[in-house]
Amino acid sequence: STDRRFFVGGNWKMNGSQASIAGIVGFLKAGPLDPRTEVVVAPPAPYLASVRAQLPAEIGVAAQNCYKVASGAFTGEISPAMIADIGCQWVVLGHSERRHVFGEPDALIAEKVGHALSAGLSLIPCIGEKLEEREAGQTEAVCYRQLKAIADAVGSDPAVWARVVIAYEPVWAIGTGKTASPQQAQEVHAQLRAWLSQNVSPQVSAQTRILYGGSVTADNCKELASQPDVDGFLVGGASLKPDFVKIINARQ
Ligand code: PEP
Repeated sequence: STDRRFFVGGNWKMNGSQASIAGIVGFLKAGPLDPRTEVVVAPPAPYLASVRAQLPAEIGVAAQNCYKVASGAFTGEISPAMIADIGCQWVVLGHSERRHVFGEPDALIAEKVGHALSAGLSLIPCIGEKLEEREAGQTEAVCYRQLKAIADAVGSDPAVWARVVIAYEPVWAIGTGKTASPQQAQEVHAQLRAWLSQNVSPQVSAQTRILYGGSVTADNCKELASQPDVDGFLVGGASLKPDFVKIINARQ
């Protein structure tokens, strides 16, 4: 919908160096970027402050993960307070690699969602089914279960939901080159929006951006972006390349 501002996130995963990041900053600053698109990039934690300092304020910067408390004896973790302290407004939570490589369960992701919101951050929580779940006809059930854990932690206040951008990322499409068809993406996005309407409120359902993620490229982004319930993308591999600008401009 045109009521929801188109949103494109770039998840760099565990990629990049000071040298390669200078190149990414360069193509983002050169653009030109459609000013109607909200753009957020998620560098690895060691580069957050430097990327924040290098990019114009209109481009948001996200951490790729955080812990569920503000500080303490949690070696190796970073907190939402730290992310905010260095001037970054966003955090990605529950990415499929956090869920399936690092074993993060719904309950932990929900605790992170609640704490990051209370610390003032905006969030990109991610959900999505695995291939065997899709093939077993469980796509809806899995996505609803993951969304319920997140939604229960967000609550019902539309002003809090305004800081939440949901990413639907089917696991079988992430980093595989197997993109969901526009029809497959639209079907799940519409189901997620219906779930929000029934279980949170029609207002939250209408206002919340739902992104598609999974092998989005400059070639497939326009048709996906034309689907009524696809409000943008979370992009992995292609966010490291100048093609990311074409994805940001998918609605042009
Ligand atoms: C992601 O990391 O969220 C992602 C969707 O990756 P890719 O675009 O590389 O499939």
